[in-house]
Formats: sequence, structure tokens, C-alpha cells
Amino acid sequence: MPVFKSQYPDISFPPSFTIWEWLFGEDSKHSPLNRFREDELAGYVDAITKERVSWKDVKETATYISTALVKKYNLKPGQTVSLFSRNTIWYPVTLFAAIRVGGVVSGASPAYNVEEMTHALRTADAKFIATHPTSIKIAAQAAKNVGIPKEHIFLLEGQLEGYTTIKELIEIGKSYGKAGQVQHFKIPPGKTNKDVCALLSFSSGTTGLPKAVMIAHQNVIAQALQVQLLTTPDYKKMIAVLPLFHITGIVHGIHVPILLNVEVVMLPAFSMESMLSTVVEYQIRDLLLVPPILIKLVRDPIVDKYDLSFVRRFTSGAAPVSEEILQLLKAKFPWSGFKQGYGMTESCSCITAHPPNMQGYKYGNKVGVIVPSTEVKFIKEDGSEAGVGEPGEIWARGPQMVMGYLNNERATRETFDNDGFLHTGDQGVIDAEGFITITDRIKEMIKVKGIGVAPAELEDLLLGHEKVEDCAVLAVPDERAGERPKAYVVLKPGSKADQATGQEIIEYVEKNKVRHKWIKEIEFVDEIPKSASGKILRRVLRDQAKKGVKGV
Ligand code: AMP
Repeated sequence: MPVFKSQYPDISFPPSFTIWEWLFGEDSKHSPLNRFREDELAGYVDAITKERVSWKDVKETATYISTALVKKYNLKPGQTVSLFSRNTIWYPVTLFAAIRVGGVVSGASPAYNVEEMTHALRTADAKFIATHPTSIKIAAQAAKNVGIPKEHIFLLEGQLEGYTTIKELIEIGKSYGKAGQVQHFKIPPGKTNKDVCALLSFSSGTTGLPKAVMIAHQNVIAQALQVQLLTTPDYKKMIAVLPLFHITGIVHGIHVPILLNVEVVMLPAFSMESMLSTVVEYQIRDLLLVPPILIKLVRDPIVDKYDLSFVRRFTSGAAPVSEEILQLLKAKFPWSGFKQGYGMTESCSCITAHPPNMQGYKYGNKVGVIVPSTEVKFIKEDGSEAGVGEPGEIWARGPQMVMGYLNNERATRETFDNDGFLHTGDQGVIDAEGFITITDRIKEMIKVKGIGVAPAELEDLLLGHEKVEDCAVLAVPDERAGERPKAYVVLKPGSKADQATGQEIIEYVEKNKVRHKWIKEIEFVDEIPKSASGKILRRVLRDQAKKGVKGV
């Protein structure tokens, strides 16, 4: 039966190492601190303020912060620290501080409102929050809602009355002296780095509400080593435009750069202008982006103001990129190349990626080959395994596949089978050269600007509206965001299916949810197709929509 294996040699790594020991430990052969001279070490640099920390500084400051967290604030292994901030160099430093002493780090979107943040804190059972002055109001209210004391809220940057800053934590840690620093956390006897959770990331998976994905130390270590084998040796600098809370940011913006000794230029807030001027200022030749930014690159006239002739590679991930956009990109930047990766939070980023020797736009829309130490099969609708050229649901197995969902045994069992395969909910096909193309998304998830939106979350909200009897939310294509949610709504008797009601429902969502979850359009229907067990038949609805069958 066809199980496709990576064409690359297997990776190997020490199963007893934590992420901290692996990246910063004195006996790690992968640590840049043991492979480069001090003046050769890259680091994280703030694009605006130019504040910079090299890997050596990261190790030192994270050690002090972790000592302060343990000695003064009593952080215990296994406790969660929520990172709720825009991109800053202190984000990864704090992440490593928590991980150093066995803490678990959970990233939350800085765009969350109070309800969403409250839900994120509760789901991840967070005990501490590290945030930014721009997010403090929401952080403070959400913390109150879940009983996190104000002393457990830290500021990554800036200063605000009544809050401890990360720089103060560094000073507190320092005050214990060299000998007073707490020892770093070790994988407990009898366990490996596969069994210990380091990160919690949110994803709705194939169905239902967003869940906290448990990412083990091993998942991150393995993924970074897998990516390393597929990276060109001339990769020296990157710009962290993508949010650090998403798996792409966690892996490619925080961990991989340390392994590869790649300088990370952090962009606190995205705008085309700030991104382009930073790219030019730092002469960044490799741009890891998401499709909505690629769309801007080909459509936004502001791009013409910048000389991007030094750019060597655009890399895209997190969402599908259309053939049309690729062609436009190729026409506009013929001197550059294009790479793509495919994966999900549950696979700690990549299952496939383009090989390192890629030139030009040759493999454009294909998402690449299977990354090292990974197996993939394609399951047809009748449950049989597909061969070359036949589409099927992508199932993947490898050391980067995560531990499961926190406190959600059922969803874990539905997504990860007994043989260790992750059921991705994506449909794909493999060609004779081993390149995979994504042909469809069969799971519920909607991808807005590369960020997953769970239809179930919006359906739950809509059902709380006084005029909504029943509803279903699906993805519809959107020029700029890739996809956006569309709601099919059955109204309660007596409610009018007109423009005003539609607008009222759209505004209700806008009031309650962060921008990327906003509904693009509403269609009133007589009923929502459901299975005998009451499950929404999304495919039927989608097929009806494709055929232009209207419910009203
Ligand atoms: P997330 O967990 O937010 O990273 O979302 C993962 C999902 O994004 C995957 O299951 C795919 O549906 C989609 N995705 C990620 N990368 C790609 C890609 N290169 N092409 C098409 N879809 C992608």
C-alpha cells in the first residue's frame, strides 16, 4: 500500500534534550553558541528602535528572567505563560525564559478582544501573561476574568504604572548572582522530549471550536532540523512580519533562525511601507510571507517605490496561493525565485517544503516534497490509499506531529490515529517526482490572511442572535484575504430576510469578534442541510453554493 516517505536522509537529535538544552546548552552540537564565535552570532533586532539581542544575550537575559519567574513569582514546571503581544525582540526572549524552567508558552493573537483572550487564557490554563502596552487593557480585563493577579502580568516593552517590565525581571534575576540562577528544567526520568509539552497553540483542527494544541519539545527540535535540510546555505537574514503567535512565526521566526544563525529583523506592526523599507534597509533577500502579502506585492503601487532587485526568494506558507498571483509575481520579480511550504499547527509547521536547490518559479503552486523523517499517505473517500496522481486526504506521520489537544481526548483521537498519522483535513495529490499539490480543503477551517477561523465559533455566536434560528458558516474566496467567512442563515419566524437584517447580523459579529473573523456576506436559506445525527453537511451546502442554488 502506498505510503510515501521523504527522499531525504532521516534527521537525528537527542531525545533527552529540551528546546533550551538543544539551542543553548553547553553540550549541544546544534547550539550556535558552540559553533560560532561571539562576534559571528546573529540575533533578534527591532526594525524600528534597532535594539538587538544576540543568541548569547538571549541566553543570558532569558536565564535571569526565568530565575525571577521561579524565585519571585513561583512559576512551576508545566504552568502556562501566555504571550499576548505584537512582535518584539522580547517576545522570544520571554518564551525561552519560560521554557528554560519547564514552563509552557501559549501565544495569543494581539488582535483578540476581551472575550477571545479570556477564552484563550482559560483554555490554556494560563497563570502568567507577558504583554505589550498596546494590549494591556484587554490583557488586564481578561486576566481579571480568569483570576490571574496583576503581579503576574508583565510588560515586554515600555512602562506602565503598576506593572513589572521584562527589563525589571532581568534585574531581579541578576540580583540573585551567578550562583543563584535556577537550574534549567530537565526531561523527567522515563520520559523523552516527545512527552513534555513546551508550547500551546490554538487551532480548530478539522472540526469544532479552537483547541489548544500541545507541542512537545521534540516537535520543535525535529521540525527545525527538518527545515534545515531544505534550506539554502545562503539564508542569512529574515524579516519577522508574520505574527509570532502563529506556528509559522514560532518555528520560522523564533527557533529556526537560532539553529541556522539567521538574523531576525522584527517588525512590530505590519504595513507594506514598513515592511518594504525594512527589507531594503537590511537588504533581506529571503522573504517568508503569506499569500495576502504576496497579493499586495503584485497589486499595491507602493511596491514600485522600492528597489527590490536584491530579493532572491519569496517563500509562502500557511494558506493556498493562486496560480494567477504566482504568474503576476513571476512577471514582476523575474530575477527572484519562489518556494512554498505546507503544514499545520498540528504538524508543528511543515509536512512538505520546496527543496533547497529551487530556481525561479518552476514548481510554483506545488507545496513541495515531504520533509525528512516524514511519511505521507493519501486516503480516498472510500478509505483506500491513493497512489501517484490520485487525490486523497493527506495523512502524515513524523516526529513533528504534535502531542494532541489539551483536555480534549476526543478531538485528539479523531485527528491522530493509532498508527501515529495526523489526519490533516486537506486533500492533495503526489506526482512521480514526489511533489505534492493541495487540491482541496475538506475540513471546516476558513483561512483568512493565513490565520485559521473556526466556523463553529461563528456559528455559536450567530445562534445567540435573536433573529437566527439556524446557521452554517463556510469559506468564500476573497481577493485580498484569500478567504473570508460567509454565513448561511435560517431566520426565526417573523424575521424579515432583507438587507437590514443581513446588515444587523453582520454588525453583531463585528461587535463580538476580532476583524479577521468578520462575516463577508450572508445568505438567507430555508434550512441548513444536516445529517441524521445533526451534523451540518457543509459539502452539500458548498456544492449548492457552487451551482448557484439560492435558498431564498
Ligand atoms: P494552521 O494550523 O493555521 O497553520 O492552518 C493549517 C492549514 O492551512 C492547513 O491544514 C491547510 O489547509 C492550510 N495551508 C497551510 N499551508 C498551505 C499551503 N502551502 N497551501 C495550501 N494550504 C495551506
